[in-house]
Formats: sequence, C-alpha cells, structure tokens
Amino acid sequence: MTDLFGTPEPRRPRAHRVSVLVPVAVEAPYTYASDRPLKPGTIVAVPLGTREVLGCVWDDPPDLSIGGNRIREISRIFDAPPLSDDLRRFVDWVAAWTLGSRGMVLRMVLRVPDALVPEAPIKAVRFTGQEPERRTDARARVLEMVRDGMAWSKAGLATAVGVSPSVIDGLMKQGTLEEVLLPPDTAYAVPDPEARPPKLSDAQAHAAESLQAAVTAERFSVSLLDGVTGSGKTEVFLEAVAENLRLGRQSLILMPEISLTNMVIDRIERRFAARPAEWHSAIPPRQRVRVWRGVAEGRVPIVVGARSSLFLPFADLGLVIIDEEHDPAYKQEDRVSYHARDMSIVRGREGNFPVILSSATPSIESRVNADQGRYRRLHLPDRISGAVMPDVTAIDMRHDGPPSGQWISPILAEAARRVLDENRQVLFFLNRRGYAPLTLCRTCGHRFTCPNCSAWLVDHRLRGRLECHHCGHTQPRPDACPECGSVDTLVACGPGVERIAEEVRGLFPERRVMILSSDLPGGTDRLRRELSAIGEGQADIVIGTQLVAKGHTFPLLDLVGVIDADLGLANGDPRAAERTFQLLTQVTGRAGRVGGTGRGMLQSYAPGHPVIRALVSGDREAFYREEIAVRRNAQLPPFGRMAAVIVSGPDKAEAEAHARAFARAAPRSPEVQVLGPAEAALAVLRGRYRFRLLARSARGVDLQAYLRDWIEAAPQPRGGVRRMVDVDPQSFL
Ligand code: ADP
Ligand code: ZN
Ligand code: ZN
Repeated sequence: MTDLFGTPEPRRPRAHRVSVLVPVAVEAPYTYASDRPLKPGTIVAVPLGTREVLGCVWDDPPDLSIGGNRIREISRIFDAPPLSDDLRRFVDWVAAWTLGSRGMVLRMVLRVPDALVPEAPIKAVRFTGQEPERRTDARARVLEMVRDGMAWSKAGLATAVGVSPSVIDGLMKQGTLEEVLLPPDTAYAVPDPEARPPKLSDAQAHAAESLQAAVTAERFSVSLLDGVTGSGKTEVFLEAVAENLRLGRQSLILMPEISLTNMVIDRIERRFAARPAEWHSAIPPRQRVRVWRGVAEGRVPIVVGARSSLFLPFADLGLVIIDEEHDPAYKQEDRVSYHARDMSIVRGREGNFPVILSSATPSIESRVNADQGRYRRLHLPDRISGAVMPDVTAIDMRHDGPPSGQWISPILAEAARRVLDENRQVLFFLNRRGYAPLTLCRTCGHRFTCPNCSAWLVDHRLRGRLECHHCGHTQPRPDACPECGSVDTLVACGPGVERIAEEVRGLFPERRVMILSSDLPGGTDRLRRELSAIGEGQADIVIGTQLVAKGHTFPLLDLVGVIDADLGLANGDPRAAERTFQLLTQVTGRAGRVGGTGRGMLQSYAPGHPVIRALVSGDREAFYREEIAVRRNAQLPPFGRMAAVIVSGPDKAEAEAHARAFARAAPRSPEVQVLGPAEAALAVLRGRYRFRLLARSARGVDLQAYLRDWIEAAPQPRGGVRRMVDVDPQSFL
C-alpha cells in the first residue's frame, strides 16, 4: 500500500489529536497526531506497527493522555468524500450486534484503497485548427478524421485511420494536433425514471403507490412485498426506485447470486434507459474502483449488488431493496458473521430511509414482523396476465418409485415425455452437485471420506474426481479399493445431477440435455450464457441445482420435476421446513411463468409431510400458520433469540477442553439458557475439530450483553483453538 499513498506531506507541527479506526481486528480507535483538526469520517493513512494502513477518523474522543513522543502521526489525508455519519453509526452498530470488532466491520467499507486516489486523466489529441506544412496522404486522412474537433487517444486515432503512430507524432510536432487531458471515464448514464414506465395491473399499481409513498416520506420504514412467483414484484419495486430517482437520491438493490442475475440487470436498464452499477465478487478491479468512488461521490444513482454492497460509502442513500429476502445467501458466515437483510434494516434506520423486502416466500421472521405490524405488508396474490400458478402434485415414491438404481419414477418420465412432445421444456431439479454423494467398496464396505473433514467425498464423473464439498479437497477416482485392493468393486450410492443427466439421456436419447451446476468449468460467464440459452429454447431438458431456482424466467418451461423433495427436510436445522418450502416453491414456480400452465411434480417418500402438503395444496397461508405456531411453541426465532459459539482446533482434546471451560464460564442468568458443548454435526472441517454451544433466550433479552459478559469471564483460547460467535445462526452444521 505504501507506494500508493505517495510521498508524505511536508512536516508541520502536529498539535491535534484524532481518533482513527483502522481496518484490523481492534475494538477501539487509536489516537494519532495531526497538524489540523480532522472531521470524523475523513479517510487517512496511518502507521500501525511497521506497516502503513488505511483508517477513518472516528467519533470516539481521542486519548489525550498519550505523551508527546509516543504518539504517531497521520501520514496522509485522502482527498476522498468522508464516510457519512450514518455509515459510521452503521459500522458501530453491526459490530455491536455481531460481536465482531469495529475494525473488521470498517474493513468491509474500506475495501478498495485504489478508489481513494482520483483516477489519472486520460491523454488525448485534438485538432488545433492549424494545417500542417506538408500534406502527405496519411496526414490528409488523419485530418479528415479530426477536423470535427473530437478528441482521440493517440493509439485509437492511428488504428482508426490505419496509419502508424509516428504520423500522429509528426502532426503534434507541427502543431496541427495538441495533447489534451480528458477526465477519466467516470460519467455514468443518468437513469430516467420516465423512460419506459410499465402498465401495471391494479394490484401492482396499488403496491407501487404504497412503496412510492414510503420513498417520498424520506423516513425509515420497512415494507414487505409479498407476492407469488411471477406476480410482477420486480416491476413494482422498480417504481419505488423511480420515485427515489425523482428525489435525486441513490438506490441499492440487493440480490442473492447477483453474478447470475443478468436478466434483472437488463430489465432495469430497459426500464430507466441506463445500466445500473453492479457490485459483487466477479467485478473486475478497475470497475470496482470506479463504482466505489462513484458511489461515494454520489454519481452512481443505482447499485445492484451482493450483500457486501451494503457497506458501500453511499453519498445519499435513500432506498434499499432486498430481493428474495428469504434467501440464505444473505447470511455471511466467515469473519464478521452478519445477515444482510437484517443489517439493511439497520442501515435504513440509521440513515432514516425506507427499506423494501421482496419475496414469494418471505422468511418466517419477516412474516411475523409484518403480521405484528412492524412492517407494512403488500400482497400480490396472483400471477400477471392470466398465467396461473403451477399445478403441483406429489409422487409417492413408496408405491410409484422407479426400479432400483434409477431415480425418475415412471409417472414423472411419462409427464416429461408429453411436455417434450409439445416442444416445451422440462426441468429436473436436484440440489446436489456431482454424480453421487457417496462411493463405497462392495467387497469390504470402505467409504471414501475427506481426509480433512467428517464428510463423504462426492463423485464428480465429468471431472473424474472425488471431491469434498466442505473444504475443496479432491483426488482422482481410483479403480481399486484403497482398503482391500479389490478392483472394480466401487459403487456409487445415491444421485447427483450428473447421474440424473445420465438417466435422462437414456430415457430421452433424442433430446438436448443441459446440466446447470455451479461447479462446472467456465464459471459465471458460462452459467450466464447457459441460462439465456435455456430461455431461448436451446435445450429441451435442464437438470439443475438450486441456482436454477433463482430469478430466471424460462418462457418455454412447462414441467418441473423435483427428484428428491425430502432432501433437506431430514436434518436437525430449525429452519429445515421453511427452507424446503421456499426452495421448492421457487423451483416449481419456474414452470409456466409466461402465459402457460405449468406443472410441478414432487418425488417424495413422505408425501404427508406438512411442507409437501402445503406445496401440493398451494395453500401457502396454511404453511405459514403451521410453521409460525411451531416456532412460537418452541420459542424458536423470531419468538426467541439464539447465538451459537463454535470452538474449533487442530487437536480434538484441546478444542473440547476449551469448549468445556468456556461453557463453565457462562454467567448464570434466569433469562439465558446455554446448551452444549456438543460435537458439531460437521465434526471436523478443514482439519479442525469442532464443538458447538448454543445460547437461547426470549425475544426481548439483550443476548449480546450476555455474550460480552461471558467472553469477558471466559479463559482465552490457546494453542490454535479458535472461538467464533454467530448471532442469529442460520446454519447448524
Ligand atoms: P416476480 O418478481 O414477482 O416473480 P416478475 O417481476 O419477474 O415477477 O414478473 C414476471 C413476468 O411478468 C416478467 O416476465 C415481467 O416482465 C412480466 N410482467 C410484470 N408486470 C407486468 C405487467 N404489468 N404487464 C405485463 N407483464 C408484466
Ligand atoms: Zn474394499
Ligand atoms: Zn473436506
């Protein structure tokens, strides 16, 4: 970083003391000296140990007790917009809520150091009006090109005319062309709220008006846009964005799996005649710099982004929308463990602007908040323009299953055949990558497990490898059993998408089959291409994991067959039922979205399960009623609060000993119940042994305060043992 910050400023007496929060794992700002007073929010560079790091002047009072020669000096003040008051309060709030350090939360804001120095202007050449003394043919052609006064880059001009760059140099010497400095390409097309307004249905218009009123109020509020798949929620929330554009304020639209949601970005571009800025992990570095800076300077009116965009330094954020608010991808689990939906609401409260949650299957948390009047609920019960909801049926695999070794029941195969005969598309859904989740030896029973994790290795035939889905370990698939040496005795157990594809090719050899799975080579670009290829009808049968469930419209898709509807219901996660309901509603909702009559078929060994029954009857209200009652009775979220503590270490005994010592240190409280430690379901991960504890309380209890006292009282972990606190855990592995 040092060279980026350039030469330090000339020395002047540094009489002022300022607090600077640095983006490392520290709780409080450090005090530095400065030659002038600095306002909180100013971004600076400071020495830290032997390094120089970025920092932000913070609101805490500086420590005035530090003596003159022990204090270190701010090394640079950046000419970048300061972080706003509400963003700083937000950082403090997220840290307090997640029990992360304030420094680590700030790190999520200051992620793009290159954006702090203005971009260098671009060198260009322009016609001066003075004709050259000698006119060659090449020079004449250049003149023809530049006579209108437009500026060109040297290389661009030479290429456009088809001359060597020396011709351009010659004309510059003559005074015919002059060098000019152009501002870097930072102009963003200005979105026009009136560009292409949709014709909304009555229900849409009603919801849109309500959201627009929330925007014009310029006050904090939360609205839950709750509408079935294909009810036109996107058009509705874009009307709120239009209203916010009219106010001249910035909007942020959060999406899960943003790198794949090209279609939505295209729609936004069409609606406002300008492409929104994107923010996610696949954005190239240069664009990252531009977006960060443009957002900070208020030049970027709309950002469509992944959860991390919540930490962008908006100059005047006036609206946040969380599309698919129920999606588990909004939870970040590493380092600072936060839920972007919940933190968006905090950001709206700190910035005093409205927040919109949108979903076809709202989280139980949001539904309860809406039912209790904390959120405004806007309901879109029907699909747009006559398209009806898919007709969902269950196939009872206990009676109607396929012969052993196959996974598609004759009933589903027959339904698929009829759809294909009408030149419509079929989607087979299985949320499991690879060929088979388990490989074992028929002779000795040996199972292939990960050397680093307590998990089976998944057979990936297309790559010829066995892989761990938890740590990424991979090894070639052997011919012989490593345990007993028998050859050709390894059998694949259970299906993954690759195996379903094999079966489908056998059933429908003449059809075009496409597998969509995030692990296939080619990455995001390939997936984007394939998703649009499917939309255009370039495949007859699609076999996909959960990424097909999200946000795509496939106009030709008529039938969705869920290979294993019970998958995910069986684990001990308190949200198992909710997750399965959401995922299967989303995926069956892909059928018949445009004009048609779609069908969903759920293969299940437990068709009487409440989730399967709710999906088949199409009675989502019944599901919510039942699930909310279950949560209330068991005091599960949102009726109770939870925080998980995960203790892990390379040595099992040490990790377990610390987990026990930590449990013993738990303060006694009539309000908080501490469970564990227990060995985690994923007992070993990346070579670390894992133990879990769970703290539970009623809704109104300050669980964070309890956890802080607990951590204060507990021994520090040693010997490579780590302790991670996960407030409002979403995963229980
Ligand atoms: P949701 O987000 O609720 O699943 P979308 O906003 O994606 O629904 O809308 C589903 C489809 O209906 C899209 O193809 C969209 O372009 C179309 N659509 C939405 N609103 C209207 C409308 N008012 N008139 C015509 N088509 C619409
Ligand atoms: Zn064997
Ligand atoms: Zn592993």
